[in-house]
Amino acid sequence: MKEKKFLIFDLDDTIFDFKKGEQEGLSNIFAEHPVSEVTFDQWLPVFKKVNSSIWKQIEEGGSAKDLLNTRFSTTYQAFGIEADGTLLERTYRNYLDQSYFVLEGAKALLDRLQQQGFVLIAGTNGKSSTQRNRLKGTGLAEMFEDIVISDEIGIAKPNRLFFEQILKRNSGMTKSNTLMIGDSLRSDIQGAIHAELKNIWFNPYALKNHTNIQPDAECRTFQEVEQQIKQLFTL
Ligand SMILES: [Mg+2]
Repeated sequence: MKEKKFLIFDLDDTIFDFKKGEQEGLSNIFAEHPVSEVTFDQWLPVFKKVNSSIWKQIEEGGSAKDLLNTRFSTTYQAFGIEADGTLLERTYRNYLDQSYFVLEGAKALLDRLQQQGFVLIAGTNGKSSTQRNRLKGTGLAEMFEDIVISDEIGIAKPNRLFFEQILKRNSGMTKSNTLMIGDSLRSDIQGAIHAELKNIWFNPYALKNHTNIQPDAECRTFQEVEQQIKQLFTL
């Protein structure tokens, strides 16, 4: 490869199996705080409903910290139980920090890309300690030339400045030799469009695009991601 090429990878649900960690954390919470005559499979949909309504309020501008501290108390309330929402949220966060999994095939993809000479960069929203701990625990930290976490730089995707910081930090990186890969249309793809970067929407569950955000490419598998990276760079 003559000119260096840079790939920015989102982490949660692009490289890490965030859903699996989430499920494990929730089952731990329920095991410690069971509801009599209610199974985890009955409790979980109630939590999910409360959780999605809370995230909707956060997206509409509500305080994330205050609202997240109510998601467990509201869930337990539905079963007539009073619970300390703040304490449960803290416990759950600790579980999330400890339970991390890599999506099948993700490590192999990163390995292949690295062998082909691509410079790999992690660009993620989230808490610094959580993401660094996961990268270390999964052995992926050393695969990335640079690790950029919203918590550390004070700017999050989809803000254009998040991507401009990455370009500034890495010498030789330009808008034309950089590509963003992520599962979120609203943060990864919208952000890449704001920053005028080529982008790939990783969409393994074939979700419908209900937004007006148009990715340069959409992929279901890591194999497709690898092919698209090459295609987008030859354009
Ligand atoms: Mg993601």
